[in-house]
Amino acid sequence: MSILVIAEHDNAQLGAATRNAVAAAAAIGGDVHVLVAGSGARAVADQAAQVAGVSKVLLADGASLAEGLAENLAAQVLAAAGGHSHILFAATASGKNVAPRVAAKLDVAQISDIVAVESADTFVRPIYAGNALATVQSADATKVLTVRTTAFDPAAATGGSAAVETVDAVADSGKSQFVGRELAKSDRPELTAATVVVSGGRGMGSAENFKILDPLADKLGAALGASRAAVDAGYAPNDWQVGQTGKIVAPQLYVAIGISGAIQHLAGMKDSKVIVAINKDAEAPIFGVADYGLVADLFQAVPELVQAL
Ligand code: FAD
Repeated sequence: MSILVIAEHDNAQLGAATRNAVAAAAAIGGDVHVLVAGSGARAVADQAAQVAGVSKVLLADGASLAEGLAENLAAQVLAAAGGHSHILFAATASGKNVAPRVAAKLDVAQISDIVAVESADTFVRPIYAGNALATVQSADATKVLTVRTTAFDPAAATGGSAAVETVDAVADSGKSQFVGRELAKSDRPELTAATVVVSGGRGMGSAENFKILDPLADKLGAALGASRAAVDAGYAPNDWQVGQTGKIVAPQLYVAIGISGAIQHLAGMKDSKVIVAINKDAEAPIFGVADYGLVADLFQAVPELVQAL
């Protein structure tokens, strides 16, 4: 049995999510291969070869793969799929874009967002916004899986010594074209990888008020997050949204400020190791999942907390 893990990268650095997917592959058992599909991505392949538990790296290097276009990437995965019993993607924006195309072409059911491996054909995945866990068994010859990264501790970045094998890059599909990329720049840690997240909700009241979270995030070395209500109201950018339709995070510490704790928000953060909530409503559902709760006006409590820190 051999398992193919699709690497996330920017042609220079191996994305951290890949190592979570490798950990899930290791839990399935068998040889773990990593496909690096990119352009000028040799350094990424070398990094993937160092990851503990990886036995082979396939490097497909070509102009068609430079920008991670889903159509080309899916074709590349299909070209490399032969002989693999499982194909694993991290459940990221890219993984969720490519995996269904691969599953459809292979005529198999995709199993999404797995959080545990029971055996080589049986996996656990959340349903109903994380309110229930389904154990699903696949009879398909090839299992196409996306992996919830927060559920698997990453494989070590070093310790492996896999061989790197070059494979032919697919031709450009001509179906889509890279136009441009606008990247949000921030000195803060990336939200899904941060060990501390400070999130604000509708209770913040305005985009201006949201800034009172900056010094708290600075003190804690935290990434900033937000509820959907805060994003929809324009208090915080879209890519900060945590929850069912936002990002899934599981940091060591999650601080929810002025967030009521709707199930759709909890779906994105309830696996955090320690949850702190500040809310003026003692009945707010967020206190049901919080390890530490402070019933207080956030405009008083946050500056006091910053001062105390
Ligand atoms: P509210 O529910 O309005 O809560 C604001 C809180 O702030 C209240 O508890 C209030 O007591 C408190 N507060 C107000 N003023 C102060 C103050 N001065 N000091 C202290 N506390 C104060 N939501 C998400 O977050 N993420 C998602 O991904 C998401 N996906 C969704 C998907 C679907 C299909 C649907 C239907 C909904 C989704 N939602 C999501 C929305 C979700 O249902 C809630 O509407 C949203 O999470 C509420 O955000 P909130 O807690 O910031 O706002």
